[in-house]
Amino acid sequence: MKKNKILVTGGAGYIGSHTLKQLGEAGYDIVVYDNLSTGNSNNITYGKLVVGDLADRQQLAQVFTEHDFDAVLHFAASISVPESVLKPLDYYSNNTANALNVLHCCQQFGVNKFIFSSTAAVYGQPTDNPITEATIPDPLNPYGSSKLMSERIIRDYALASDLKYVILRYFNVAGAEVSGSLGKTQPAHHLIAAACDAALGKIPKMSIFGTDFDTPDGTGIRDYIHVDDLARAHLDALIYLDRSDATSQILNCGYGQGYSVRQVIEKVKQISGVDFTVIEAARRAGDPACVIAGADRITEILGWKPRFNDLDLIVQTALDWEKKLIANAQPVKQAIH
Ligand code: UDP
Repeated sequence: MKKNKILVTGGAGYIGSHTLKQLGEAGYDIVVYDNLSTGNSNNITYGKLVVGDLADRQQLAQVFTEHDFDAVLHFAASISVPESVLKPLDYYSNNTANALNVLHCCQQFGVNKFIFSSTAAVYGQPTDNPITEATIPDPLNPYGSSKLMSERIIRDYALASDLKYVILRYFNVAGAEVSGSLGKTQPAHHLIAAACDAALGKIPKMSIFGTDFDTPDGTGIRDYIHVDDLARAHLDALIYLDRSDATSQILNCGYGQGYSVRQVIEKVKQISGVDFTVIEAARRAGDPACVIAGADRITEILGWKPRFNDLDLIVQTALDWEKKLIANAQPVKQAIH
């Protein structure tokens, strides 16, 4: 009989919690393993929560002993580029060594389907856009390196075992669930979050980091993907790995379309109706000019169909979520993920 019990590490976080909801709605039986360092237990809409740290391999193994998992979705990680530069060892511990712990448990307990949260940061400074999965990874910071090292561990282990994996390389994730029940779980300094904060008066002004890039308006271009489309990619990956002809895959997650910083800020001003103050500042270290996903492969392999490829909707849901947080005065954890 087909099992459908899934382990979701980091299920209380931003992308994990959106995916968890879709998995729950699709009828999967879920166990979430999360240390709640950056996630929020209120975001766990389905499944059983085990509060634990991935560094604690004994506790993790105990969870594998108690549940007969069919697959693991490994989200739990630290995700701040500047923080990774300051604390590289923390990133290699939390992202690389902990991924290794999860894989050891997969090996010990015979779990052979693995879905991994990776990042466009593995590509570093791309020379060509859109960036396809054939591009040789060359990360610029410990965050990207920690994820690429995990990818290589997964790949090498799969070559030596019957593990099949889908590695999803996320581009710029943004927005919140359309119903307004889920959103990001911690303060972020990403562009759309910063612009929403400025529009809502949480910060007095925002900065454009770099106006001298080689792009049409001089500002950085990114591929913004709605969090629920990204969540759906995980469900599609799980369904794919159930197929008898499934093979291991590395897939970009984006829309294949980019917006500049100025375009995004204009959109947030238009949708919020607030003409907040924007100042032009120097480039951030290591920021590439343009990062757009070559996104054909995920559609082709997984049959992924994005439903929210709409910057208006991404911005509207992000704004609605921030407004809700203000209205509820819900404390958001100061943390890294
Ligand atoms: N950015 C900006 N002001 C901000 C935050 C970001 O100008 O307050 C720019 C950043 O330099 C980059 C783009 O917006 O060109 C996207 O940055 P973000 O931090 O959202 O994601 P990243 O692409 O760095 O992962």
